[in-house]
Amino acid sequence: MKVPMLDLHAQYEPLMKDIRANLEKVFSTHHYIMGEQVKELEEKMQKYLGIKHAIGCASGTDALVIAIKALGIGEGDEVITTPFTFFATASSIWRNHAKPVFVDIDPQTFNIDPDQIEAAITPKTKAIMPVHLFGQSADMDRIMAIARKHNLKVIEDNAQGIGCTWDGKMSCSFGDIGTLSFFPSKNLGAMGDAGLCLTNDDELAAKLRQLRVHGENPKYFHKWVGFNSRLDTLQAAVLLVKLDALADWSKARRANAEFYDSELDNVDGIITPYIDPKAVSIYNQYTLICERRDELMKYLQDKGIGCAVYYPLPLHLQECFSDLGYKEGDMPAAEALAQQVLSIPIYPELTLEQKQYVTDSIKEFYAKGE
Ligand SMILES: *Cc1c(COP(=O)(O)O)cnc(C)c1O
Repeated sequence: MKVPMLDLHAQYEPLMKDIRANLEKVFSTHHYIMGEQVKELEEKMQKYLGIKHAIGCASGTDALVIAIKALGIGEGDEVITTPFTFFATASSIWRNHAKPVFVDIDPQTFNIDPDQIEAAITPKTKAIMPVHLFGQSADMDRIMAIARKHNLKVIEDNAQGIGCTWDGKMSCSFGDIGTLSFFPSKNLGAMGDAGLCLTNDDELAAKLRQLRVHGENPKYFHKWVGFNSRLDTLQAAVLLVKLDALADWSKARRANAEFYDSELDNVDGIITPYIDPKAVSIYNQYTLICERRDELMKYLQDKGIGCAVYYPLPLHLQECFSDLGYKEGDMPAAEALAQQVLSIPIYPELTLEQKQYVTDSIKEFYAKGE
């Protein structure tokens, strides 16, 4: 049996007829930049997430870069974030000439540890950028309380968490700006790169809209040096179809997680994901903490089971950030987990046989011993 990490064939098969029809609509107008489907998607997304403004752009990375720029953060400023995330979280700060300041994670949720945030705040701190990692919201009660107390902006990097909630409230509705990624392997993926900014603030929304088209308004008049970062009409046409399936996919991912939890909770050698009682995860990943992680990974791969390490090297130790002056030992939780985490297939189309094969194989590995 084969169990890939993600099965886009299975995901697209039932949708291709509708996607082709929607693409044909774009071909009939040849309106490839900012066509009507972009606006339609933005409106549909506003409704789905219950957030006032959605502003499409070219990628999840660009969404972060533009969000930081829109908040006026740049040279000489600091932004507090997590070292245990995809690279773009920190590179978007760096690319705005601001300094990423890393705060270690809560080793249970993998998200930024609110207890350690205040110690990292300096007079230069302008914002906190939590990531809702693997589809589980960071502790937004604590983060927003700290932000209010110190007058800081909050940017939610929600590239992995579309539709996840904290205390019954939708992610991206807490901070000043939230961002999404539609990279093909995300829970809602396009057929290429695409991203989105979300905000309830009218003024910020107007600025984000302007920044994605070179900072111009009206045309050929530039108040800011902006970007060329729009969401393609063709990608919007694809996403419009797929957004209708998202709620069901999230449900299926949660059901898969429940199955894994029940099968793996009592296996010696691994710890199943901890979900905070206030959080509802959309399981972008199902991530185990494992003894003998690298051996387990090889064992599963040899059996045709896809699995992956997110992330093998925390961002404070990346070579490109060496000027920031971090060293090994600075973020003990993130560093330890980088050696122990393993994500296993959780995509909605998994069959019961596939799931059973995954859990049986993991049990088999630990039953064999060293
Ligand atoms: C995927 C991802 C991004 C970047 O999104 P792209 O669309 O690939 O540019 C940013 N942050 C996190 C946490 C991600 O997982």
